[in-house]
Amino acid sequence: MAEETIFSKILRKEIPADIVYEDDRVTAFRDINPKAPTHILIIPNYNIPTVNEVTEKDEAVIGHIFVVAAKIAEQEGIAEKGYRLIVNCNEHGGQEVYHLHIHLLGGQRLGRMVV
Ligand code: 5GP
Repeated sequence: MAEETIFSKILRKEIPADIVYEDDRVTAFRDINPKAPTHILIIPNYNIPTVNEVTEKDEAVIGHIFVVAAKIAEQEGIAEKGYRLIVNCNEHGGQEVYHLHIHLLGGQRLGRMVV
C-alpha cells in the first residue's frame, strides 16, 4: 500500500479543499498555492505515489484524468485560449506530494516550460 499523503485526507474530506469536480475515479481541487489564475490538481481516488509506479491497471484512470482535465478547462472558461498540464515526478521533477496528480494551469499566458 502506498503511503498516505495530505491528498488522502482531502479525498476523505478530513481537511477542506475547494473541490471543483469528483466522480468514482478522480477528484479535482484548487491548488492551495496557485501559480496561475486557474490552478487545479486532478488526482486518482487511490494513491499512486509517482509516475514511476504507474502500471497497466492504472491506464483507465490516467486516461480519465485527461477527459476530466478537458471538462474542467471548459468549465473554467480557459479551453479556447489554452492551458498547461504538468506532472512532476520525484526530486528532479519537483514533486512535493507523493500522490500522483496533474496540475491544470491557465487563465493567462504561461512562461517558459522549463526554467
Ligand atoms: P507537486 O510539486 O507535488 O507537483 O505539487 C503539489 C501541489 O500541491 C503544490 O502545488 C501545492 O501547492 C499543492 N498542495 C500541497 N498541499 C496542499 C493542500 O493541503 N491543499 C491543496 N489544495 N493543495 C496543496
